[in-house]
Amino acid sequence: MLTVELTKKWMELFYAQIDQEKAYLSELDTPIGDGDHGNNMKRGVDGVKDSLAKLKDPTLKETLRTIAMALISKVGGASGPLYGTAFLEMAKKCDESQEPAILFAAALEGIKKRGGAKEGDKTMVDVWAPTVKALTDGSFGTEQIKQAVASTKEMIARKGRASYLGERSVGHLDPGAMSSGYLFETFIAAGGV
Ligand code: ADP
Ligand code: MG
Ligand code: MG
Repeated sequence: MLTVELTKKWMELFYAQIDQEKAYLSELDTPIGDGDHGNNMKRGVDGVKDSLAKLKDPTLKETLRTIAMALISKVGGASGPLYGTAFLEMAKKCDESQEPAILFAAALEGIKKRGGAKEGDKTMVDVWAPTVKALTDGSFGTEQIKQAVASTKEMIARKGRASYLGERSVGHLDPGAMSSGYLFETFIAAGGV
């Protein structure tokens, strides 16, 4: 069950992970993008930290909406509106259910709708989609997440900046898949599922 407490803990760990890996994320974004994914995400999580600190006794919906708004306004780059949409869809769904499987499924639908990517296009969807499936069939875990991230290496990019490279994008991990991997790994570390 996703709660306000869990979400705050999760965001603290995500913040620390992004801070630690921002150079690596930008390095992944260099051969197949514009080398800014780490800095984009760092700006985003800084924004999340600031806005969450200002909330007094928020509901889960307010917490998720606040995260969404901070990511949309601070990340810049393609990944910002996509991560923002993910949290906005979770905010919309959380009155109905607080089950991670249901909330992340709603988030995934939002990401797909907003960005138009499907599985196999070498984007964050290639981590979100198998992870939502894994939450449903019970195989969710660190290994499963790492495998999903790794699977993007051999894919040909069909969306985002990496798609300009076509087949030359093969052999590189997708940076947004990596940051999404961090998002789910820190969810586990925070005690979610
Ligand atoms: P930008 O490409 O604008 O510099 P970032 O570097 O922050 O933005 O983010 C790039 C990541 O965003 C990619 O690695 C990919 O995972 C994700 N991405 C880009 N376009 C899409 C899309 N249409 N659908 C899903 N994810 C996408
Ligand atoms: Mg980039
Ligand atoms: Mg950019």
